[in-house]
Amino acid sequence: MQHNKKESNIKRSRHKSKGYSLASRLAIALLIATICNVTISYLVDTPKISKIKRDNLRLEAQYEILNEKIASAELLLSDINHRDRHVYRPLLGIDTLNIPSVYAEYNDSKYADFKEDSYGEIIEDSWRRLDHLTRNIYYASRALDDTQDMAENKEEFSTSIPAIWPIDRTKLRKVSSLYGMRKHPRYGVWRKHEGVDLSAPKGTAVYATGNAVVSFSGWKPGYGYLIELNHGFGYKTRYGHLSKRHVSRGDSVTRGQVIGDVGNTGVSEGSHLHYEVRYRDNTVNPIYYFNKDMSPEAYIELMEQLDDTEK
Ligand SMILES: [Zn+2]
Repeated sequence: MQHNKKESNIKRSRHKSKGYSLASRLAIALLIATICNVTISYLVDTPKISKIKRDNLRLEAQYEILNEKIASAELLLSDINHRDRHVYRPLLGIDTLNIPSVYAEYNDSKYADFKEDSYGEIIEDSWRRLDHLTRNIYYASRALDDTQDMAENKEEFSTSIPAIWPIDRTKLRKVSSLYGMRKHPRYGVWRKHEGVDLSAPKGTAVYATGNAVVSFSGWKPGYGYLIELNHGFGYKTRYGHLSKRHVSRGDSVTRGQVIGDVGNTGVSEGSHLHYEVRYRDNTVNPIYYFNKDMSPEAYIELMEQLDDTEK
């Protein structure tokens, strides 16, 4: 009887150990399955993730195409602005348009949100370029307005700007002094000569070099008897050392009209006309405003003569 009890105890305990091992095997299998599942899901995307990844790639490619399109628009616009600056404005004699806001720094906070994004860099780049493009389109449209205004006044402009010789060239003895730095004939010091000196006999007629209004007619220290003409469009001309003046302040004059006579008044060595061209109150070299009524040959001859004078 006792033997039987012992045997049945052993049997039960065997049965028990068999039950434990089955549960742990199941647990291990489950664990392995979970690990495999997680690993696979890391290595292989679910269909949803795959779609998002494909969409992102497509989006990135589209941004690249967009940036290429922006780049070609930028190129086109820079060509338009180049023509404005280097062709139309010099042709019409107008200053380069300056709109400070076009060149202002970009506010970085405007693009801060993009930094968080995984494609933030490319999106920020597109935004900045589009903003830049918008500014430049604004600039171009303003520049065009300017040019249009100027073209409408082209006829008035072309008759107003100084463009002829202020004396009859057959009366010219020589160009005695050029525009620029020179040793002053009387004071012996180096200073800028603000115009050109045209030697001619006393009484030689002095012409208005463009349509204008007389803004000064009187005595000015250094200049002697001086006439100043305001041509509009930023241009003024001065005629110094005159012996006689034939116009008064406020008179309207036309190109080629006799406004005075060559003389030797003021600080002057011999009878000559001191002629100045001023643009926006700065003197410019009058030589560049002589060529309207000159043949190319005559212009070259003058330049050679000036070279001799300079030596
Ligand atoms: Zn002079």
